Parts: sequence; C-alpha cells; structure tokens
Amino acid sequence: MAASETTTSAFPPVLPNRHPEAPRAADLDKCVHCGLCLNACPTYRELGLEMDSPRGRIYQMVQVATGQAEPGASYEEHLDLCLACRGCESACPSGVPYGRLIEAARTEIEAKKQRPWHERAFRSFIFERLLVTPWMIKTAGAFLYLYEATGLRAIVRGSGLLKLMGKMGRIEHLAPTAEVPFFFDKVGKTFPAKGQRRYRVGFLAGCLANVTSARLNEATVRVLQANGCDVVLPAEQTCCGALHVHSGLKDQARALARKNIDAFLAGNFDAFITNAAGCGSTLKEYHELLEHDEAYAEKAKLFVAKMKDVTEFLGSIELNPKMGPLSVTATYQDSCHLAHGQKVRSAPRQILNAIPGVKFKELPLSDLCCGSAGIYNIVHDDIADSLLQKKMVMVNGTGAEVVTTANVGCAIQLKAGVTKYGKRQRVLHVVELLDEAYRKAGL
Ligand code: SF4
Ligand code: SF4
Repeated sequence: MAASETTTSAFPPVLPNRHPEAPRAADLDKCVHCGLCLNACPTYRELGLEMDSPRGRIYQMVQVATGQAEPGASYEEHLDLCLACRGCESACPSGVPYGRLIEAARTEIEAKKQRPWHERAFRSFIFERLLVTPWMIKTAGAFLYLYEATGLRAIVRGSGLLKLMGKMGRIEHLAPTAEVPFFFDKVGKTFPAKGQRRYRVGFLAGCLANVTSARLNEATVRVLQANGCDVVLPAEQTCCGALHVHSGLKDQARALARKNIDAFLAGNFDAFITNAAGCGSTLKEYHELLEHDEAYAEKAKLFVAKMKDVTEFLGSIELNPKMGPLSVTATYQDSCHLAHGQKVRSAPRQILNAIPGVKFKELPLSDLCCGSAGIYNIVHDDIADSLLQKKMVMVNGTGAEVVTTANVGCAIQLKAGVTKYGKRQRVLHVVELLDEAYRKAGL
C-alpha cells in the first residue's frame, strides 16, 4: 500500500511504510460490511465464524493496515483458511476485489514470515525448481506412474498402511494419475487445423498438467483442430505462476509471466488458450502483476486481451456441428476461477447443450467450491473433504453419469469425490466430452 493512501472511510489512517504489495486502502474501502457475501463463502458455511468469512477477513486486513492489530498467528490462520475461491466477489454488490486483497495480504505475510530452514528449502524446491523444470516434473511423473503400474498403490491401499500414515494416508487418494505418454513431447510443435483454417491459436499446456492431464491436453488440441484452428505450442512457454501468486510469491510469478508473454506475443496468434481455469485466472491478471514493470506493463495488456479459457473461446465462435450423439446425462461443476475469477459461466453450459444426446442437468450450488482450491485440499484436508462430501450429495442428486468441470484441480478433487462419496460417475473436462462427440463423428 502506498504511503499516500492514508485513510479508509470507517477506520483510522493506514500505517505509512507498509509493504508495497500490502492490501490497498482503495480496495479495502469498498467493503461496506453488509454481509451479503457470507452465505457464498464455503469456509463461513463450514466453520460459522465471522473471522472466517470474507467480511471478517477484510475487517482483519483493515485492522492490520491501520495498526489496530498485529499481523500475528491468528491473522495468518484465518487468511490461510480462505480457499481464495472468490465466491464472495461474485456475491458482493460493492465490487470488492477480494481476490486481489487476499493475494496482497498473503504476499505481505510471506515477505515478513520467518520460516524454519526445512520449510524454506521445501518451498524453494517446489516453487523455484519443480514447477518450472520439465525434467523434474517428468521424473516425479515417472515415479508416480511406477507407483501405480507396479501395483504398489493398490497394495498400499489394501494393506491398511494408510491408516498408520496420518495425514499422508488421508490425502493419498488425492494423488493424481500420471498419464503416459506425457504431453511434454508435444510442446514446441504445431498441429494443423482440420478442414478450413479459421484461426491460429497458441496453447498453454501448463506445468504438472503435462503429466497429470496429458489426455486432456491432447483432447483440447483435437477439439481446437476440429474447429479450424492451427494449434501452436510455443516451446518457450512455462508454468503460469498461479500457485506462486496464491502462495504470496509474486516476484517468482512475475519472472514466469514475462517468459510466457515473450513466448506468446512472438507468435502472431488470434488467441492464447488454456484449459485450466486456475491458470487462466492468473494469466488474465498478468497486467496487474506487471503494472509497475515499465518494460512489460503494455505487453502484459496485449497478452491479457488475447488470453481465453478454451470453453470461452469455443463459446465465442461458431462450433463445428459435426458431432456424434453421446446419449449421456451430464452435470457441470463451475470452476471457481472460471465462474468467479473470469466470470465465464454460460460458455461451458452452451457447449454441453450443443452436444447431441447429452442431457444436461444443472447442479445445485454449482459455483460453491468443491474444496480443491490449488493445494488447499492437501493443506486443509479436513475442511476440503467436508466440502467435497456435501458437493457429492448434490452431484448424486442430479442422477448424472458424467460430472464435467473446467479445471484440472477440480477434476482431481471430483474424481476423489465420486470414488469416496459418489456413484463412480465419470469425471471429465467439458472439452473431453466434446472431443468424444467429435471422435464419434470420425473427426
Ligand atoms: S465484501 Fe462485499 S458483500 Fe461482503 S461485506 Fe464487504 S461489501 Fe458486503
Ligand atoms: S475467497 Fe472463498 S473462502 Fe475466501 S472469503 Fe471469499 S468466498 Fe470465502
């Protein structure tokens, strides 16, 4: 917060000389404390505590900003329990940019935090090495693949060992599947349009998704080709930085943003496409991330103007109608970062309704978080599991055989949900179901 931002309307002046990325007074000021966001907040619904509601968290941010409270353990805990799902943003009539506030508050906390050496080393390995180094992701993916392919996973699950492993045992079911062949070997290549060429698009394949969602990435490329797109995967692309932003590591995220901007702006594309709503939300906010970077501020705006979720892009063009009928009942779980972060709600439903034979059943409370939220389901597995259990009651009630979503993380969480609390429904990205229809028509 700049020192010149000296007051909020309802509180004493904010402290001068705060961290430059601390929550801005102008953003905090927008909250009129009406409480209309409370019922849209998963953690408030779970815990019933004002301090774990959007209004309560904003109040705590104001208290810290004005020096009325210390940013201590309690503050950290209540902010850490936030899913950053941004459901409150959609419910708020005053336009409070809650997503920006929580990211700013976490960045401020992270900058001051004294972590023990082993935590620092672990975070440094994950954020600065693993997520940005393809060979490391491939190696981790190979181990994950062997864990499953050798039958070790089944043995561990059947042995009762998981019960003795505490939290590791409780979250083992959330471990994604490694899909071979990995998608990394497609990065750097171009896939030509089928039929008449209508668009040239750049596809951002993600980081871990190259291992855990290799089939989804292939389906995305095929669907775009079937819709007349030359699909290019720029070789210099890298992790989008979403997990870094959500963990308060904005400088690392900025470095990744600059690389992606250079990689994609060089390509003369009509649009840049992602199939991961969590990544898309951050990619569309690169202009905010780099607003004070003289060399990249304008480039970031150009990048953001072309950035599209794959469902958003397909919803904006005339969809190739050559699809085979699927004869299936499907429902849709809104991905928080698509519905609340990017305000894209109708495009995925439009696509599902366009597939012949698909009977679409709306899911009650479809835009309430499923508990995935990046790594939330690992860090706060108890709350995440409770949210998932309630979500599955709704899913089961639709009678749908297929649960669709628009984000990799949501799909992993829902796959755990259908096994643990559901009826073993299939869980697919919207684009994967569309791909099935195209393949059935011989495309
Ligand atoms: S965030 Fe919005 S909805 Fe929630 S209390 Fe503040 S003004 Fe009201
Ligand atoms: S982002 Fe989600 S969990 Fe956090 S305060 Fe808003 S609605 Fe609640």
